[in-house]
Amino acid sequence: MLDRFKRNITYLRISVTDRCNLRCHYCMPAEGVEWIPHGSVLSYEEMKEVVKVAVGLGVNKIRLTGGEPLVRKGIRNLVKMIAEVDGVKDLSMTTNGIFLEKYARELAEAGLNRVNISLDTLDPQKYSRLTRGGDLNKVIKGIDAARKAGLTPIKINCVKTDLTTPGDIQSLQAFCKASGFHLRFIRQMSLTDGSFYPVEGGEGGRCNICNRIRLTAKGDVIPCLFSNYGYNVREYGIEEAILMAVGKKPATGHNNKVNTFYNIGG
Ligand code: SAM
Ligand code: SF4
Repeated sequence: MLDRFKRNITYLRISVTDRCNLRCHYCMPAEGVEWIPHGSVLSYEEMKEVVKVAVGLGVNKIRLTGGEPLVRKGIRNLVKMIAEVDGVKDLSMTTNGIFLEKYARELAEAGLNRVNISLDTLDPQKYSRLTRGGDLNKVIKGIDAARKAGLTPIKINCVKTDLTTPGDIQSLQAFCKASGFHLRFIRQMSLTDGSFYPVEGGEGGRCNICNRIRLTAKGDVIPCLFSNYGYNVREYGIEEAILMAVGKKPATGHNNKVNTFYNIGG
């Protein structure tokens, strides 16, 4: 599926929920979030249908994100349903890792190929502050469980903010090097201001080679993180919503005043 700029769209990122067990300071306010009403959240059946249609249009890579994908009940079922779709070559997840100790194995058995885990510091107090209550020890155990379950190659995403110190970076580099994890740095962005940066060590943010579209938990297909357009699969039908979003993919994004990181999924 080619867009107006001859980019081949092969990658669909699905935000399976806007809910999260953490409240990272750059992503969510401490309180007062208006959640998507339950009735508007796509069922797993609907998400699978979107994947099937997307694959029919040329998508072969799927990433599950959130909010936190592991807080949605029965997520292993969705993984299994998507892994069974013919033509899905790469099925991955972006997670904060807290629940991976519990779920890594069953996710791998259900057909998940690999995980990206968000981790901004190895200092337990600082981690708790940045995430408003997260337990670093659980993430470390989660990463280990993912490695043992074969959810590899494991990528660690670190969001660089004003609070990131050279010590944070060095210890993450040493940790990842020792265990063979890929470390990527994402500079803090603002969707509303349109401040955006390419991922250091990754492909995100390189507009000329962007091959992505996104599906939110309520079923909007979004052409670009920094775009206000979105086409709902329940309103337009799946194929039409995807084609309209692809048709609106900008050469480069500007800003997004409609959505947030936690409902698009980064
Ligand atoms: N909860 C999962 C996690 O944290 O990995 C998945 C969803 S989270 C929204 C996806 C990615 O977006 C994470 O790597 C997170 O660090 C990143 N992110 C959130 N807010 C951001 C911001 N303001 N600037 C840059 N990256 C951000
Ligand atoms: Fe939750 Fe991920 Fe946002 Fe942190 S970055 S608040 S873990 S959705």
